[in-house]
Amino acid sequence: MPGSTEKCLFCRIVSGDIPANIVLDDPDVVAFEDINPQAPTHLLFVPRRHIASIDAMSDADSSAVGLLVARASAVARDRHLHEEGYRLVFNQGDAAGQTVYHIHLHLLGGRGFSWPPG
Ligand code: 5GP
Ligand code: ZN
Repeated sequence: MPGSTEKCLFCRIVSGDIPANIVLDDPDVVAFEDINPQAPTHLLFVPRRHIASIDAMSDADSSAVGLLVARASAVARDRHLHEEGYRLVFNQGDAAGQTVYHIHLHLLGGRGFSWPPG
């Protein structure tokens, strides 16, 4: 069931139950390589604490979600992705392509991106 932490794929990656190529691991945020990358750099930034989606956020979740952006921009800068530009994406709901119901921020970089998105 979406929102359940027990079977949540990203909770299981955060806990180390399921392996992933972790690139950042701090008290609030874990980031890892996407298993099906859509760009030369494609990382997922997730709060350690389960939050199902943007739509499920409460005000109390704002700092945890804000930290995803802060950590993604720091990693992007470390990798010099800021020089050419990069894309940050939250998919909300089925129509937007959300498949994992644990909030995650996509960091995509290393190529050009069109607008409007598909
Ligand atoms: P969404 O479509 O929900 O915005 O993004 C979910 C992302 O998780 C997708 O880009 C997908 O490739 C990635 N993903 C799905 N399963 C796994 C997995 O087991 N490991 C990793 N590292 N990424 C996954
Ligand atoms: Zn979760």
